[in-house]
Amino acid sequence: MPNVFVGALGGTIAMSSDSSTDPVRPKLGAEDLVSAVPELLEIADIKSKTIKNVASPSIVVDDILAAYRYAIEAVEAGADGVVLTHGTDTLEESAFLLDLIWDREEPLVLTGAMRSPNLLSPDGAGNLMSAVVTAADKRSKSLGVLVVLDEAVHLAKTVAKTNSSSVWTFQSPSWGPVARIVEREIHYCMKPSDRNSSLPLPALGPINIPIIESPFADEGSWVESIASTKPRAIIVSASGAAHLSMAAAEKLEKVIENGIPVIVASRTGSGKTLTRTYGYPGSESWLLEHGFILSGFLTARKARILAHVLISAGYSGGKLKEKIEAYGA
Ligand code: ASP
Repeated sequence: MPNVFVGALGGTIAMSSDSSTDPVRPKLGAEDLVSAVPELLEIADIKSKTIKNVASPSIVVDDILAAYRYAIEAVEAGADGVVLTHGTDTLEESAFLLDLIWDREEPLVLTGAMRSPNLLSPDGAGNLMSAVVTAADKRSKSLGVLVVLDEAVHLAKTVAKTNSSSVWTFQSPSWGPVARIVEREIHYCMKPSDRNSSLPLPALGPINIPIIESPFADEGSWVESIASTKPRAIIVSASGAAHLSMAAAEKLEKVIENGIPVIVASRTGSGKTLTRTYGYPGSESWLLEHGFILSGFLTARKARILAHVLISAGYSGGKLKEKIEAYGA
């Protein structure tokens, strides 16, 4: 039997209420989640631990580093794979942060639930089963961090929560899943040809890298007030393939001249930022000529996590740009 360790961090999968009509709150620990699905023991020997029990908008870098340490200790104690249960709201960011630092070949799998255990047709038990199947399978090795919900297996780098309440919310918009779970078996259809090398653990504490979405008729009136907070970088979720209004682009250029990196992603949620197709002021090629960094395939949310890890590791200037381009490719 493979050994799978399950660490719980909270989220809907662990939420409940006293009556079926009251709003749910974090309640269940790792033991409760595992013992509610005795069929898991037909797949693997399971050990479990509650690491934290909160809704995922309140998860911070320190919690993810605690989960990372739990997973490392699990592997050192003989785990073939590790599952973390997590709220779905920020799961894609936690998974990506872990993926950037996870240097083991054993699979680290995140899962959660969209429907709490007290609703009709809750999805937590099935998702936990699929996650354990994924973590226990040798074919999941060396893929880094995986996200498993709704019988689909996604890479941490490509996955996003795409719907506020549906069970099919986790998708990899530019790519699709790498595997599907059918009858408690994993079926891989695609695997990445390589993986970016792992990065040093980031600093504890706040991230201090704001994300701003550039809207229609953006005059860049937000630029000065954001820059005055002295962020470590600014992420702009821009229209199309990394396109800003001339006004916003020119204001942001001054921010870059003052030493704050500006990283531009596409607000469309899928596809890559372009590099050399459009040439007007504020277009992607203009931004590149004026010192901006483009995030490639990474959404603004993921570019922020990557920037935090890289800046914590001492990257700046051209080296920061090079790394973001490499990890965003
Ligand atoms: N608000 C919950 C959370 O992210 C939603 C969920 O888990 O689905 O913790």
